[in-house]
This record gives sequence, C-alpha cells and structure tokens, in this order.
Amino acid sequence: MIGAKAPAKINLFFEVGKKRPDGYHDVLSTYQSLDLFEEVMVEPATDWTISVSGDISAEQLQLVPTDESNLVIKAAKALAKSVGIENPQPMHFKIHKRVPAAGGVAGGSADAAAALVALNEAWCLGLEKSQLAKVAAELGADVPFALLGGTALGTGSGIDLQPLPKLRTQHVLLVFSQPGLGTKEVFEVFDKSFPEGDLIANRADFQTGFNLDLAGRNSLLVPALELRPDLLELMNLVPGVAKLSGSGPTLYLLSEDLMELTGWQKEYQDAGS
Ligand code: ATP
Repeated sequence: MIGAKAPAKINLFFEVGKKRPDGYHDVLSTYQSLDLFEEVMVEPATDWTISVSGDISAEQLQLVPTDESNLVIKAAKALAKSVGIENPQPMHFKIHKRVPAAGGVAGGSADAAAALVALNEAWCLGLEKSQLAKVAAELGADVPFALLGGTALGTGSGIDLQPLPKLRTQHVLLVFSQPGLGTKEVFEVFDKSFPEGDLIANRADFQTGFNLDLAGRNSLLVPALELRPDLLELMNLVPGVAKLSGSGPTLYLLSEDLMELTGWQKEYQDAGS
C-alpha cells in the first residue's frame, strides 16, 4: 500500500467577513499546523471502499463516513478529473484518524490532502504540489493548508495562502468535545449574528509575521457558543487561556511550559471523569 500523512491545524487567528454572493465568506486567518497527523493508505480495489481506524474513541470513529461522501473519495475523483481520467481505478483507502470529525482542526481536510499525495504516487501522475493545491482548493477551504503545513496567512475563502515566518515551538493541549459542530451550521449562525461580517484586521497586520496582539481572536466563537453554550464552562475550567479552533468545538491552549500544560490536561481529565 502507498501512504501519505497530512497535519491537523489550529487557527491562531480567524476573522470572517460577510457572506459573499457566491455563498462563501472572505476570511483572514493564521493557520498553524500541528505535530499531529492523519494518515491515509491507498491500494487498487474492485470498488471504492474505506476502512477507518485511529487513536480516537470508537464513538468518534463511527462519525467518519465510509461512503462516497468521505473526502478521500471526493479527492480521488477530483484528482482524476483534473488530469482527464474519466473512469479512475477504484481504490481502497485505509484512514488512520487522530482527530475527531467536525472538530474545527481539519482532520477531514488533512485526510483529503493525504489522499491527494498518496494517489499522485499510486497513479503515477507526477503532479507538482502546486497542481495538487489547485485540486485541494476545490475540495474545501482547509485542504490547501493541509498540503502546505507550517504557519500561513489564509485569505479569500481560506485557500489563498502566504507562508509566514516559523513561530517558536510551543506545546499544545487540544480539548476535544462532543457533539461536533458542522462548519456550515456555525457559519449560518454567524450570518445571522454578523450580517455585515466581522473582518476588522487586514493583511498588513501580518506583514512581518504572526501578530501576537491578535492571537486567539476568532469570529466564530460567538456562533459556536450559541450552538454549544457548554463550551464556555470548558474554556474557564483551567487558568490557561483556551481558544476556539476554526468553527470548533475543539479548544486549544498553548504554553512553552510542558509541565503547566500537563497540569491543565489533568484538570480537564479530572473534570471529565
Ligand atoms: P474536520 O475537517 O476535522 O472534520 P471541520 O470542523 O473542519 O473538521 P466540517 O466541515 O464540519 O469539518 O466537516 C465535518 C464532516 O465532514 C463530518 O461530520 C463528516 O461527515 C464529513 N467527512 C467527510 N470525510 C471525512 C473524513 N475523512 N474525516 C472526517 N470527517 C469527514
């Protein structure tokens, strides 16, 4: 089997503009990839099939679709179409998940990105990263970043990426919770609460790199809390500052001090048991 991996992400900053006539939103976002990877293996099969395993709960694994609505199959079909293959070779995908679906940390998008890389090799297409990025952009706003990784400023619908200087390595505590939040639903609530959008910063604020003054700001926090009011309690459970990633509900806490983070992790675990 041929395999590839792609990282999950957090948004260090995420502002959303008003809904555009095409239904998308302009965003200004600082993406940061994590040292936490989704893995996708591929092999030729008689039909399009998917098996899912991973380091998350069985309940969370069950939420990952195994039919053609899974992003890995959509990625395969979009990739084939981009090179003019009308009837691509059906493939079996083995997905190893490390982050829950509908979590705001782009696990599904990472699966799509990993699938593109693996299939590029399995089908001997020899496409460049820039060509894969074009296909990635058709699949979802977070997929191009999952191919790129690092730290990047995302504009447009999130697919126009500009790499930013590398940040100092920090430890990250991810606080997963159920139920997940569908990106579409969170944006729908956002549109009602912010009909004129919530885009205040601009590209110039990030000209010399990530702007620490803007760290953690997320336009989708208000709508996410409307759908999941219990998140507020989770945010206030520890003295560290918990931020929302993307459309949530995953929260993240950053620290250069691993001991401090381990202490917060224990507080979360104790509160959950
Ligand atoms: P993530 O990309 O981690 O799922 P997200 O919050 O950005 O996070 P959404 O846009 O809400 O994701 O989409 C999540 C939905 O996508 C899931 O509920 C699931 O039905 C569907 N999905 C399709 N393919 C996958 C996949 N490979 N992994 C997870 N979810 C997937």
